[in-house]
Amino acid sequence: MTRTILYASLLAICAAGANSQQQQNFDSVQIHVEPVQHNIYMLVGAGGNTTVQVGSEGVLMVDTQFAPLAPKLMAEIRKLSPGPIRYIINTHMHPDHVGGNAAIAKLAGSDPALPLKIIANENVLNRLTATERGQAPFPEAGLPIDEYGTPTKNLHFNGEAIIIYHEPNAHTDGDSVVLFRGSDVISAGDIFTPDGYPFIDIERGGSVQGEILALNHILQMTVPAKTQEGGTYVIPGHGRICDDADVVEFRDMVVIIRDRVRDMIQKGMTLDQVKAARPTRDYDTEYVTSNSFVTADRFVEAVYKSLSK
Ligand SMILES: [Zn+2]
Repeated sequence: MTRTILYASLLAICAAGANSQQQQNFDSVQIHVEPVQHNIYMLVGAGGNTTVQVGSEGVLMVDTQFAPLAPKLMAEIRKLSPGPIRYIINTHMHPDHVGGNAAIAKLAGSDPALPLKIIANENVLNRLTATERGQAPFPEAGLPIDEYGTPTKNLHFNGEAIIIYHEPNAHTDGDSVVLFRGSDVISAGDIFTPDGYPFIDIERGGSVQGEILALNHILQMTVPAKTQEGGTYVIPGHGRICDDADVVEFRDMVVIIRDRVRDMIQKGMTLDQVKAARPTRDYDTEYVTSNSFVTADRFVEAVYKSLSK
């Protein structure tokens, strides 16, 4: 709980769908385990979704929610596999995705022969080690010291190829999308949030152009089944298990809003004038609720700022 308070300034980030009260009452949070496809599961608690891949070699996790939830997450993982926790991949640096790293590492124990590796893009490590004013340092045991600085990083684990793609300057500057090639599942992180507008974190290197490129890249990897349902499954940063059609709908929305805001900028409109014109009006009922972290104004402002740079 202490860390939650220390990271208060970031607490609400990308927590669409979870209000602040829920985040502070971790005691009442239950972890829901949803089978995705093959040996992949989505674990939903508070904060970002956790992806778990299990098999004969052990356990791989994508994102770890908040530290106080680590015992509950581990309890559910242990129902899926008794094997060692071998990998944590972080999709980005926001605390609702990396907050449980150190606590999970501690619960996992350390076997020198089978060490736990925490992997993320190098910009995640850089930002987690650059402590902002008034913040406690990020716990060392949770740092992604197996960082990568290349466009992709490959693993082979539990009998399948796992490809980690860096998506530059999308939701942040350190976003990774994880493709489980054998299971045909993608863990997208907060690039894709089907129930809310994307949080484009301009201060941490995000941009609307990078967001669209990343969504298009995800769509290059998704193949729908003949019925237009199923095929490749996409686990979003927050929200339900999705497929190709869901990502298309979300990508189209982001592109349309980007185009509208760009037209308004070209007409010389100020940010206030663009907000007043409500370029998201016809989408707000679908993407904004009373709990939304990313309000219509916040989304418009992020699009405006990234196009004005
Ligand atoms: Zn985020």
